[in-house]
Amino acid sequence: MAEELKACPLCAHPYFQPWLQVPDYAISQEDFSLVQCKECDFCFTNPRPAPADIGFYYASDDYLSHSNRRRGLLSQLYQWVRQKALAEKKALIQRQTGFQPEQAMRLLDYGCGTGEFLHTMHRAGCGLMG
Ligand SMILES: [Zn+2]
Repeated sequence: MAEELKACPLCAHPYFQPWLQVPDYAISQEDFSLVQCKECDFCFTNPRPAPADIGFYYASDDYLSHSNRRRGLLSQLYQWVRQKALAEKKALIQRQTGFQPEQAMRLLDYGCGTGEFLHTMHRAGCGLMG
């Protein structure tokens, strides 16, 4: 069952405009509508799957960002690129916030997948929530 948002999740503005139709070729074969908030330009899926149904849309062993599997060339390449991206994200956060390992800092990773970024930042001494 779909859930239709009546306000922007960021600014609570009630008006959106159609932005993009996106087919899900991987799992459901359904089309999803992305809308853009007329106030803050945030783009989001609307309507979106209800919380009770969301697991269905991620139920695939082929979804690489939810896997630590290293079988096959594509999977190994993905893991290598992910490690590079994690190092760059950590460096970006350190540059933007001035975060140093001995400082107390808490980080929320919304949509954390397998938690690889949380793990990277934990090793850097950061408090975490995902
Ligand atoms: Zn908004």
